[in-house]
Amino acid sequence: MKHWGIAIDGPSGAGKSTLAKRLAQELGFLYVDTGAIYRTVGLAALRRGIDAADGPAVTAMLPELVITIGYGEDGLQHMALNGEDVTAEIRRNEVSACASKAASIPAVRGFLMEMQRQLARENSVIMDGRDIGTVVLPQADLKIFLTAAPEERARRRWEELRERGQQVELDQVLAEVVERDRRDRSRQAAPLRQAKDAVLADTTGLDLEESFQLLLELVRGRIGCVKGEKG
Ligand code: C5P
Repeated sequence: MKHWGIAIDGPSGAGKSTLAKRLAQELGFLYVDTGAIYRTVGLAALRRGIDAADGPAVTAMLPELVITIGYGEDGLQHMALNGEDVTAEIRRNEVSACASKAASIPAVRGFLMEMQRQLARENSVIMDGRDIGTVVLPQADLKIFLTAAPEERARRRWEELRERGQQVELDQVLAEVVERDRRDRSRQAAPLRQAKDAVLADTTGLDLEESFQLLLELVRGRIGCVKGEKG
């Protein structure tokens, strides 16, 4: 049976994970949040007191890390670090910057690549990240580059953090989002950029439902009605 691959890339706060998760449910595909994998490496560095931007130190830590992705009965992705479920902890705001710094290190990207490709070989996937359409799944059936204005992305991220009980200023979140994008776009290894054959989807001014309908149309236009593959 053919396994479908849909790549959704874009800057932080564009709505990738919320929309990709819902699309995956709609289509019966597996949702793979690759940012969560980088966050797990970022958390490992943070816990060990290692500067996540220190290439040699982070690279030396990698052989000690056992990172596993699991899917609960709810279909949600769980991350484990050396056997401990860190799904909630990797969402902490401090982990975001560590993940982005560690993600600039080529050894980290190489270390995590096979895990991502294997999931796509074995399942129909919607995978979101920064380099899925350009590097991880260059043969994806559909590539979407999802973006929105920085102010809007920061506001969405700020609301998400507040819902999780983290008190941060909107200005601070905007500054962090802008810095993370700059780092993701300017790094040497697999920088964030739109693949040549990706469709641009800008959700500025669109609410969640409108954004979802936009993506669903793109998916249906490219791969037709594939609902219920799992069932
Ligand atoms: O998507 P999320 O914000 O959770 O990702 C955290 C960080 O991981 C990003 O800022 C980015 O630096 C890195 N990342 C990446 N490549 C991916 C997914 C995430 O470099 N495919």
